[in-house]
Order: sequence, then C-alpha cells, then structure tokens
Amino acid sequence: MDFDVIIIGGGAAGLSCALVIGSGMSKPFAENRKAGIILHQKSSHLQSALLNNVFGIPPETKGVDVLNQGVAHLTDLYPEVRQISREKVIEVAGINGRYRVITNRNEYSAERVVVAVGYTSPFRINGLEEYLIPHKKAKISKNRIQLKNEDHLVKSGLYVAGTLAGWRSQYAIASGSGAAVATDILTVWNNEEHTKVHDKLT
Ligand SMILES: Cc1cc2nc3c(=O)[nH]c(=O)nc-3n(C[C@H](O)[C@H](O)[C@H](O)COP(=O)(O)OP(=O)(O)OC[C@H]3O[C@@H](n4cnc5c(N)ncnc54)[C@H](O)[C@@H]3O)c2cc1C
Repeated sequence: MDFDVIIIGGGAAGLSCALVIGSGMSKPFAENRKAGIILHQKSSHLQSALLNNVFGIPPETKGVDVLNQGVAHLTDLYPEVRQISREKVIEVAGINGRYRVITNRNEYSAERVVVAVGYTSPFRINGLEEYLIPHKKAKISKNRIQLKNEDHLVKSGLYVAGTLAGWRSQYAIASGSGAAVATDILTVWNNEEHTKVHDKLT
C-alpha cells in the first residue's frame, strides 16, 4: 500500500500529527494525497499517565482516556487518514527516494515518514540505527534515546516527533512537536508556501 505520508506511533506526538494532517486533507494542495498512521498504542507513556497540568485538559484526566478519545476524534473528523491498528513497525528502509515501512504483519511504501514512537531504549525499529543518539534532555541514568534531527527533520522525507525528537517528556511538548511536523509536511505539499489549518466560528 502506498502513502504520501505515514506516521509511526499513536501516542501524544503521533496522534497530534495525524489530526493536523487530517485537518489539511480537504485543502486543494492535499487532493489525492494518502496519509496513514500505524496506531500501535500499547507502549505509549500515556497508558499510565494522570494528567493534571495540561492546558485545556481537565485535571485528573487519565492518559489512557486521552489516547482512546484521540483515536475516536481522528475517526470521526478525519477518516481520510487511514488507521492501521495493532501493527508494530520493525523496519524502515529508504529505497529509490521513498521509504519502505515494514510491520510484523504488512509492508507499506511512503514518500514521507514521521517516527513518533517515544524515547524508550532499546529502540526496536531496524534501519534507523545510524541516527540514534543519547537523549539530550533526559536524565542520563534513564538511558533515553532520540534520533538526530534538525527541526524534526532526520533526513529528506524522514521526520521525528515527540520525545524521540529530543523534547522533554511533557504531554503538551510532545503534542506540539507532532503538530509542528504536520504543518511542515502540509507546507511541503503546498509548494513550500507556509501553511497551517485553522477553523473559525462563523
Ligand atoms: C507515569 C507517567 C505520568 C506522566 N504524567 C504526565 C503529566 O502529568 N503531565 C504531562 O505533561 N506529561 C506526563 N507524562 C508524559 C507524557 O505521557 C509523554 O510526554 C508523552 O506521552 C510523550 O509522547 P510521545 O508521542 O513522544 O510518546 P508516547 O506517548 O509514548 O507514544 C509513542 C507511541 O509509539 C508507539 N510505538 C512504540 N514502538 C512502536 C513500533 N515499533 N511501531 C508502532 N508503534 C510503536 C507506542 O505504542 C505509542 O503509542 C507522563 C508519563 C508517564 C510515563
């Protein structure tokens, strides 16, 4: 299956990225584009989080509820973003200017890939080892990792978002990182003219 963009990981960064990409899919520049998210969620740090300090989220909100609501939100508002559930990515390989994303069940091809699988070590996706470095903003004793990147770009067509991009582990930071990558991709689709997606009250 071929995609213009595929997001790997359905935690704070991955789902935020998918929602903003989804909101751009109705724009003329996104016509005929295909976007997908590999929504493996078992190991999201949100599974055990209790959110009391996030702007816009009521105190005592369980991270697991935010995860489930995020998927429902994506399904309801932006069904154009194809959701691939219960598959774990095991390899990402660059081939002829595109990426091959291999899971435990299938194989996909994408022009752009967003890796948003969190900063836990060991990193289990083959093909990205050369970009792995110790996390720059986490306690050394925790052995966290990140992918080398410049403003989320690892190399042409390959993006990283969330804690794996080197950001500190806070929900709002990870979500913002995913949303930032989405607007970078929408901007590329819009012939490099800066873009964002805002809905307005009428
Ligand atoms: C106990 C706890 C409490 C917390 N409390 C707070 C708090 O009060 N306030 C706050 O702001 N933040 C809190 N956080 C931090 C917050 O949960 C994280 O900062 C945020 O979840 C990081 O987002 P992320 O997208 O980088 O990673 P994650 O949310 O961890 O998402 C990574 C995703 O990638 C998926 N994945 C991993 N490997 C693969 C693979 N090979 N293929 C496909 N998918 C894969 C995972 O299943 C997961 O869905 C807490 C975290 C923990 C652990």
